Amino acid sequence: MNRNQCKPHTKRTCGEPFLRAQIEQTGENRTCFYCGSEGDTVSIEWVADQIEAAFEQHFYLTSTDPSPFEYAMMKEGDYEWDRDGDPVAEVIGSSAIGLDGFTRNTLRS
Ligand SMILES: [Zn+2]
Repeated sequence: MNRNQCKPHTKRTCGEPFLRAQIEQTGENRTCFYCGSEGDTVSIEWVADQIEAAFEQHFYLTSTDPSPFEYAMMKEGDYEWDRDGDPVAEVIGSSAIGLDGFTRNTLRS
């Protein structure tokens, strides 16, 4: 598919497992773009709004540097610092498929 011709805001979906209850409540009886079935559907834009809201509620940016305590552990021991969290692109990718990425609560960019 040519990405430039793709108009995601015109597509509708019935199948986000995480949002299923909300889709049944707020959805309109239209044809699902993805599976072709008639039923409660919402726009991709609506799904994106839910994802954005979930991100704001459940994620925060982790520190790009070790804390003073972690610095001390690195200096005094063999502690190796690694930034907490998951890369943003990975979280968005896993979220958009099943929205099951929201059990994790950290994020880095
Ligand atoms: Zn569908």
